Amino acid sequence: MSTPTKVKRATKDRRPKKKPCSLCIEKAVDVVYRDVSRLRKYVSERGKIVPRRISGACSKHQRMVTVAVKRARVIAFLPFVAE
Ligand SMILES: [Zn+2]
Repeated sequence: MSTPTKVKRATKDRRPKKKPCSLCIEKAVDVVYRDVSRLRKYVSERGKIVPRRISGACSKHQRMVTVAVKRARVIAFLPFVAE
């Protein structure tokens, strides 16, 4: 009994070009929790913080964003969860 040979395509090259961190382009020194319009870009519709692989932010700025979003949530500038 022979099984049909499955040909697996090598899809290793599927790596989209890494876009630079938008906050680095803006030369943002800090991300403040009051800057809701900016933070909105790093929060999904459900209110979750967008991961770095999607937001494209560098580690430095992603960390700032994370802290700022968490602070903004506490003061109810941003929702913890949105339905
Ligand atoms: Zn950056």
